[in-house]
Amino acid sequence: MFAYKVNMSCNHCAEPACLPACPTGAIWKRADNGVVDIDSSLCIGCRRCEATCPFGAPQYDPTDNTVKKCNLCIDELEAGRKPYCVSACMMRVLDIGPIDQLRAGTWDTKAMVKGVDQPVRQVQHMANPELTNPSIVFIAHPKGKVEPQAEAPAAPASKASS
Ligand code: SF4
Ligand code: SF4
Repeated sequence: MFAYKVNMSCNHCAEPACLPACPTGAIWKRADNGVVDIDSSLCIGCRRCEATCPFGAPQYDPTDNTVKKCNLCIDELEAGRKPYCVSACMMRVLDIGPIDQLRAGTWDTKAMVKGVDQPVRQVQHMANPELTNPSIVFIAHPKGKVEPQAEAPAAPASKASS
């Protein structure tokens, strides 16, 4: 049997499904760094964000009737440090950086070997990234890789008339 764990605590999507679903403005996307933040003081516990997020990131907390999700440790980012999960990971498999460079595999990080590891946008059993354009990449275990979708047959090209 093969098993692996992928933490989906929030992917800070470019087109977050949770954001337009929130009726109170508790969820918003920061213009300066793209973090999808949440203000618990505005949350009324309606759980719409939980229902719309394709990745199961928002988690309802019945003890205070609010939803919780990762805000990328925004206080740490603003203090010039990395999120606690990145700092605490003893195997150095987590990192944070510009998403374009992470996708291209050019970001200097211990979490991937440049020129060897191939970052991918999706792993097995993860929702389709086309839904919300999540700002995350993975170095997938071979058994966790998602095979590329077969291209639909191209429609016959129409001839230009002269
Ligand atoms: S992963 Fe879910 S909760 Fe996080 S920004 Fe994307 S849609 Fe919203
Ligand atoms: S549970 Fe809170 S954060 Fe989520 S949609 Fe409702 S008010 Fe917004």
